[in-house]
Amino acid sequence: MRITIDTDRCIGAGQCVLTAPGVFTQDDDGFSELLPGSADGADDPMLKEAARACPVQAITVESE
Ligand code: SF4
Repeated sequence: MRITIDTDRCIGAGQCVLTAPGVFTQDDDGFSELLPGSADGADDPMLKEAARACPVQAITVESE
């Protein structure tokens, strides 16, 4: 699993962090970033739900 956050697209809505707090966090400016060690998805069942919840589709989840 590979997670990509399009930081140009992210508007800092925080839905990803609310939905999958085990994978995402927000940086000092409020934009989404991956928690350390979660770049491969960390097997979180809420990961795909978080990608869906993003209002600007900034999160891409790819199976490898
Ligand atoms: S839900 Fe989307 S727009 Fe909001 S912080 Fe996460 S990646 Fe950014």
